[in-house]
Amino acid sequence: MGVYSFASGPSALPKCLVEELRRDIADWRGSGQSLLELPFSDREFGAILEETERDLRQLLDVPKNYRVLFLQGGALTQFATLPMNLMGARKTADYVDAGYWSRRAISEAVPWARVRLAARGDRNSLPPPETWELSPSSAYCHFTSNETADGLQYHVLPEACALPLVADMSADLLTRPFPVDRFALIYASAQKNLGAAGLTVVIIRDDLLGTAMPGTPGPLDYTRQVRERCKVNTPPTVSIAIAARMLRWLLDNGGVDAAASRNRSRSSRLYQVIDSDSFYSSPATAADRSSVSVRFHLANSALEAAFLDEAASQGLLHLAGHPAVGGLRASVYNGICDAAVDALITFMNDFRRRRG
Ligand code: PLP
Repeated sequence: MGVYSFASGPSALPKCLVEELRRDIADWRGSGQSLLELPFSDREFGAILEETERDLRQLLDVPKNYRVLFLQGGALTQFATLPMNLMGARKTADYVDAGYWSRRAISEAVPWARVRLAARGDRNSLPPPETWELSPSSAYCHFTSNETADGLQYHVLPEACALPLVADMSADLLTRPFPVDRFALIYASAQKNLGAAGLTVVIIRDDLLGTAMPGTPGPLDYTRQVRERCKVNTPPTVSIAIAARMLRWLLDNGGVDAAASRNRSRSSRLYQVIDSDSFYSSPATAADRSSVSVRFHLANSALEAAFLDEAASQGLLHLAGHPAVGGLRASVYNGICDAAVDALITFMNDFRRRRG
């Protein structure tokens, strides 16, 4: 029996990559050192950092006037770091409330900025970019491109707008192609599509640097991190090396276009099962359903505990919805394999036959 994880993070990694990491931990690329032991000041780690940035730039086609940072702290730390760095002399920042993670971003920004709500979703659908009401005097506009808890995703990303556009892409960076130059800043935790927990990627346009609030802690100051090449404090060395392996795997497997078609095909096969009758249902509006966070319910919610128990007994793990919204969720990020989705579909059809 295969064991497959549908967790929202840390999430599944390609099996071959885990094998490579096993070797890396014993001996990093023939250097005689374990990956776990590489000091961040070492030449060997400098090469990993360069390779990671080069491959990320290639996969996303990052323009030259953007810097790439590899930091600790997760996306949640970025929620406060953004206003600390981007407010400059301005008082307000615009936020789109599209779901659970948007609201977490807002509440962490509140101590550092006066937050203006540019738009609000209705839990099961997203406010379209053309309805966002932006204030020209705000410092930036923040939105979440994929709401993992709510199972919603912006399939059409906003055009560049009058304000610097800032996106939390923790759930869908590297799952589809998009024009980086529409954005002033993009950030993402690594543990969904880019490897392991502990690493946060920030892609920031040059003109946003140099305006951190006085007193911003060094590790959270983008300008210092750019100047000191992500080494203001110890960077998450192991998670960066894992990201290097994951980026190489993505390049070897057709890049971001191929990742997008794999993710679309896996999620649409799951939505087909969910939509085939009323036993399962998806609360998200069809146009905004996420290609990576497939949220669903059972019509008889009393059966959800049995669904989770039986799925786990067949090696299908971590299918509970986010605690804030309940229900069920299958996360199908870059590292998951088709066999996992096949096994889940077989199980869902069988469960319906037995319990429907
Ligand atoms: N933003 C989104 C969209 C998320 O899904 C998550 C976590 O699942 C976060 C932010 C928080 O990330 P972290 O736990 O790495 O801080």
